[in-house]
Amino acid sequence: MSVFERLGEVYAIGGGTRVGYSAEEDVAHELAASWMRDAGLEVSTDDAGNLFGRRGDARVWTGSHLDTVPNGGRFDGALGVVAGIEAAARLRDASLAVVAFRAEETGPMGSKRLSQLPDAFLELHIEQGPVLEQAGEPLGVVTAIAGQANGAVVFEGRADHAGTTPMSARSDALVEAARFVLHVRECTCEPAVATVGAIEVEPNAANVVPARVTVAVDARAPDSGALDELVAAIGFEPSSRLDPVAMSGPPFEVLSELLPEAPRLVSGAGHDAMVLAAAGVPTGMLFVRSLNGGVSHCPEELSSEEDIELAVDVLTSALARLAVVE
Ligand SMILES: [Zn+2]
Repeated sequence: MSVFERLGEVYAIGGGTRVGYSAEEDVAHELAASWMRDAGLEVSTDDAGNLFGRRGDARVWTGSHLDTVPNGGRFDGALGVVAGIEAAARLRDASLAVVAFRAEETGPMGSKRLSQLPDAFLELHIEQGPVLEQAGEPLGVVTAIAGQANGAVVFEGRADHAGTTPMSARSDALVEAARFVLHVRECTCEPAVATVGAIEVEPNAANVVPARVTVAVDARAPDSGALDELVAAIGFEPSSRLDPVAMSGPPFEVLSELLPEAPRLVSGAGHDAMVLAAAGVPTGMLFVRSLNGGVSHCPEELSSEEDIELAVDVLTSALARLAVVE
């Protein structure tokens, strides 16, 4: 069965909804475990429920996640696991492990709870953005994963009657929040990006002047200094912050050698690779082109069979160079 066909089988479980630690994610893990055995890998799980298919010492890992957002796509996460199994099947003598991390979309929860770490990690993932499609390139080498700062900003006003209160006498929290949303947009300078994706209005009634508005800010930048600058420019107090991480060491070098002409990208999305790299594991990430304008986390998510075949070939070559042949 081809990688593309296997992606179809995984997608059929839950119809694109396999939330972390759900029964659907369990079924996907069982299916991947059977494919791992077929590829000559020894299957095990750890305390967090992460699934491993190992051969030999397995100091080199590849993989991704099998959970999805609700009503997600066919390729996010699943591609890295299925392609890793295919690469392991082609490299019958290589000592390596293929891993399916648990609950990436809601954490990442599985990769954060690893009890042991590899010497090298390589993750194949869809780009989830339009850059490779616009460049007309099937594959890209990730240089870093953007850091992110998240927080909430609260605007206080005064609840008043929407009909009897003159405009000049109002203290409208939502009007202030609206100005802030535009301000956030003006503070960004690509590749740094910032988003207001959630707003809570109180009392949230059509005939009441908004008294209190809470705005969620998500700011991302490829290096620590740029992230600090962005947060300062926006002017909010992050409640959580993840530092950017660089791809490095043999996994990054091998991908760079195999794809000298391919675009270099900063991943705006967090990934399991970010967790491993932050823990000090030399990590590389290979992106495959997302079609349909790069849409992801929805059923329209698409990558072509040809691009995926190319990506699996590169992943296999990279693992062949990284993994010790016993
Ligand atoms: Zn993913």
